Parts: sequence; C-alpha cells; structure tokens
Amino acid sequence: MKKMKGLLFVVLMVLVITSVSLWAEGEREQVKAKNVIILVGDGMGMGTMELGRIMEYGKDGRLNIQQMKTIGLMTTNPADGIVTDSAAAGTALATGVKTFNGGIGVDINKNPVESMTTYFQNSGKSIGIISTNTVDDATPAAFGAHVADRYAGKSEIVRDYYDSQWDVLLGGGTKYFGPAKQDGVDMIEKFKESGYRYVTTRDELMNISGTGKLLGLFSRSYMNYKTDRDEYISTEPSLKEMTMKALDILSKDPDGFFLMSEGARIDHASHAADATSVWLEMIEFDDAVKYCLDWAEENGNTLVIVTADHQTMGIAPTETINIEALKNISVSAEYMALQLKKNADETAYTLESIKGTLKEYAGIDISEADALELQKNMSVDLYAYKLGWEIGSVVARYMGVGVFDRTLRAVGGTGGHSAAWVPVFAEGPGSEAFSGAYDNTDLYRMVLDNTN
Ligand SMILES: [Zn+2]
Repeated sequence: MKKMKGLLFVVLMVLVITSVSLWAEGEREQVKAKNVIILVGDGMGMGTMELGRIMEYGKDGRLNIQQMKTIGLMTTNPADGIVTDSAAAGTALATGVKTFNGGIGVDINKNPVESMTTYFQNSGKSIGIISTNTVDDATPAAFGAHVADRYAGKSEIVRDYYDSQWDVLLGGGTKYFGPAKQDGVDMIEKFKESGYRYVTTRDELMNISGTGKLLGLFSRSYMNYKTDRDEYISTEPSLKEMTMKALDILSKDPDGFFLMSEGARIDHASHAADATSVWLEMIEFDDAVKYCLDWAEENGNTLVIVTADHQTMGIAPTETINIEALKNISVSAEYMALQLKKNADETAYTLESIKGTLKEYAGIDISEADALELQKNMSVDLYAYKLGWEIGSVVARYMGVGVFDRTLRAVGGTGGHSAAWVPVFAEGPGSEAFSGAYDNTDLYRMVLDNTN
C-alpha cells in the first residue's frame, strides 16, 4: 500500500511538472507586443554599419544597435530584377508583397495592397511615420500610399497621407504639400483644418505636448545632412528628437502604437560615396535606435525592429581608407557642390572653383586631369544632390574609400544599390521570431504575428 502511494505520488508529480512546463511553453508562445517600432536605415548594409562603428568608436567600440539580441538577414530583390530600389523594398517591408522598382504600396499588376500601417490603424493603434527624407519619398510612402510611380506620384502620396490621418507625420518636404503641386490646394492648410498641429522647427517640435495629431515639415526638400547642420545654422530636429517626440505622443494611446522612423540620408550619403556623411548619418540613426531601446525597456510591451531596405554603393571600411582625413571634412559633398562657380557663359563649373573647393573643404590637391574629368561629369543642369555624387566619388578615390564607381552608378536604375543581404535586429516581446535568413516580404507577417 505504501509502495502504491509512493508510485501515485511520483505519477502525480510528473503530471504536475509536465503541465506546468506545457503551460509555460504556451505562455511563451503568447508573448506578443502591444507597440511596434521599426527603424529603417535606408541603404544601410552591414559595411555601412561597420564604417559608422569604426569612425565613431574605433575598432574596439560598439554601436548601440549591437545591444539587440536577435539578428536576422534578408534578401531584397524586387519582382522585376535583382537589385531593389526603396519603393519596391519599402513595399515588401510594409505589405509583404513583392513588386517592381518604383511601385509603392501596389502589386505587380499595380493593384493597391494593404500595409501593416493600415492593419494597425484598423485595430485601433496610433500611427507615426518619420523620415529625414521628404516624407513623401519611397520608404515612408510604402507604409501608407498606393502609386505605381514613386516620382510621378508624389502629389498623390501626400493626398493618400491626408486620407490616412496618421497621428504623427514628421520629416522634410513641404514642396509637394503646396498649391503649386496640388492643383491649387494647400495641403498643409487641409491637414490643419482636419485637426493637425503643425510645426516647422526643432524648437516648435520640442514645445509640443499632450495628445492630438501632429504634422512636422522641417524643410522644403530633404532634411540637412548632419555634416552640414552647423554651416546652415539648421533649425531642424534630429532623427532622435523626432522619434522621441513621436513616442511621447503615440504612447498615450491605450491600444498601443506603430512607429516607422527612417534614417533616410544614410542612403543619400552612400550614393555620393561621401564616407564622412555616411558615418554621421549612421551614428544619428544609431542614436535614435538607442533612444527607442531605452524607451522600450522602461515601458515594456514594445517590439523594436531595426533593419534596412537595401545596401547602397558597396560601402565598407577598406584597408586603404583614410579615416583621419575623412573625419577632418566638415561638410557634405553636396555642400561642396553648392560652392562651385560657373564660367562667364554658364556652360560649366570653373576648374579654379573645382580645385579650390576640394582643397578648402576636403584638403585634397586634385590633379589637373581629375579636375577636367570632374568638370566634364558635372553638367550645370544637374541639381546639387547629383553634383554631390560626382564630387563625393572623387573625394572617395583620394581617400581610398573603395566603393562602386560612378560608371556603375550611372548605368544602374537604382543609382548604385546592391543586392547584398540586409540585417534585421529585434528586441522585445516576439523578437525571437526574427532570427534566421529570409526574404524581405517575410517581415510583414512576422511583425503581425508577434503583435497583439
Ligand atoms: Zn538609394
């Protein structure tokens, strides 16, 4: 009898232990996030991150992104080729659908597809979208607009945003909101009439408090490179400040929120082979990540994902790179382009101003042959952003940066993107699901499945 009792006890204990561990397993599976923050480094490949790390912290230092425990990798090809642009890549991330380059929020037949933003908005969460690019550019647009041509559709993207009535929309680009690009309608006024508070400077943004929808447009086009902020005596907020303010507002929603915050100019600086600006934009992005990780740790219930849409220009530290000289450059290649002087008949930039500018801002004594070549490549019809690409490539060559050359950039439809796999870092409830190697269209489902 005693023996039977002992056996019964053992059986009971086994049952209890098994059910407790099954329950724990079940509990683990049910850990989901209430809030989602996705930070996208546009054009941020792993070499880009390494350039930022080495230049900012040295070889023994660490980026804040490196605190994140779960790591995945994504392939990024669009439906119509090998190398993606930000429109097809943004659409893949936001909707889980593969599309053609240039397509925003549409499938290969140009039919609109639903983004996670719409899904979360319909489930009662507050929505925030931030970019250091113009807010109507490809990555932010993929999260809420539906146009078959990212460039021709910019005015329509702004109207789609208006229809979406997101809670927070911050970035650059008043250009496409004004009457000139909106058939006589001032979209900023329309946003205000529908209840948005509107800010245009860092100080105005920082003084915003409480709840209520917010539109912040801080420049006519792209926001300033971090490299140039002092030169321009910039009144723009940083990516971290925009993200901070968005979290303040969005987190007041008891149903949770979704925030996408884009460090867009990592890509722009990469196109220009401007390693100095890549470094500073990368660190600006990493600072925004740090703020989000600290915020999530303090507030809980928040899944933080850091990723990129694609890699740009094959950027990575090389054995030849002259880091000290690059750190001494205090303006972007684009800023240098704006200092050039045209000749009397305005058909070309003068050799004197080309040589003088490179000497003054990059400390480079450019050869006569290189100055002539640069003059030939810099058409006076090119706008500053594209002129910056030409100057940047020459600076990169003199500094041993080692990136794609201007010929490859000129022939490609993406202007120098590559198909290198991009990283995904995840932290918080549900983050374990993001480990492994998968396609960029898989991220959408993984985010939805791990959110309440
Ligand atoms: Zn790009």
